[in-house]
Amino acid sequence: MSAEPYAPDLNTYRTLLESTRAIPWRLDWQTQTFSYMGPQIESVLGWEHGSWRSIEDWVTRMHPDDQAWVVEFCVSQSQSGIDHEADYRALTRDGGYVWIRDVVHVVRTEEGEVEALVGFMFDISERKQNEQELERLRKELEVLSFQDGLTELGNRRLFDKVLSREWGDARRKHSSLSLILVDVDHFKEYNDHYGHLAGDDCLKTIAGELLVAAARPRDLVARFGGEEFAIILPETDAAAAQVVAERCRAQIEAAGLPHVAVPGDKAKRVTISLGVNTCIPTGNGSISAFLDATDRHMYAAKRLGRNRVAWADVG
Ligand code: GH3
Ligand code: MG
Ligand code: MG
Repeated sequence: MSAEPYAPDLNTYRTLLESTRAIPWRLDWQTQTFSYMGPQIESVLGWEHGSWRSIEDWVTRMHPDDQAWVVEFCVSQSQSGIDHEADYRALTRDGGYVWIRDVVHVVRTEEGEVEALVGFMFDISERKQNEQELERLRKELEVLSFQDGLTELGNRRLFDKVLSREWGDARRKHSSLSLILVDVDHFKEYNDHYGHLAGDDCLKTIAGELLVAAARPRDLVARFGGEEFAIILPETDAAAAQVVAERCRAQIEAAGLPHVAVPGDKAKRVTISLGVNTCIPTGNGSISAFLDATDRHMYAAKRLGRNRVAWADVG
């Protein structure tokens, strides 16, 4: 029989175990007490090395929100003889918490009985912090991806999403769904006269006014694109939608934003034209046909002289 190529003595084992950054430990299953705990625990958590005696010391030095599931999970895995790992927040002596990943191996007797648990605790605070930061950024990005950067209204992407959801909801409930499309009148001339930055400011002001005019919790005012806005009005019939549209029109007019470049002899103010449409969605109807019809109503308002609300394809 050939000799084992590496046969380290106990001291070598100990040095190896106690020089790692991970904290080794051993729990005797019968007595539920630690028969070994790496001294590194003191530098990671601050608790005296010798103060880890029973499983209770482990449980009570854990974040209260983690205790129940970690203990239940680890005990049930151990009883079934399954190696496992768990992430939890361990309490430090100064009252803080350190994210720990505990990787556990179940040692069994020849008869298959659980004899002990051995494991390593890894300090994963840095990784958790990075994960949490990534999660925060992901949420922020999600918000931003549905928001128009200039006006801070919902963008076209949000509009499409909400319209499709409200369409489905109205179809199920057989309720009226209304839509208003808003287009700023003579906005090209506005930009040409006042400059693009002033044009941007004007769009922001209009956005604010529209938000005030359509303020029910489920209403959605969105930037549809360029100098066009869209307002979704769930559970709103034609008459009520026309009232909201007229309120939008009147509010912008009353805001009195100067626009000296309006052609002809009309009032030299920023105005908007609006198309309104209402339907009770059915299985056959399509969202894009609904949108197209609303757009035609808006163009009817333009043809009829601008600064007005139209709810039919006329003019
Ligand atoms: P109408 O009354 O028929 O709607 O005329 P209009 O001049 O508003 O229509 P048109 O579509 O020809 O012009 C829209 C203008 O809106 C042109 C474009 O430069 C301007 N516009 C679109 N998006 C923005 C924006 O984000 N900022 C600024 N300042 N202008 C924009
Ligand atoms: Mg336009
Ligand atoms: Mg326009």
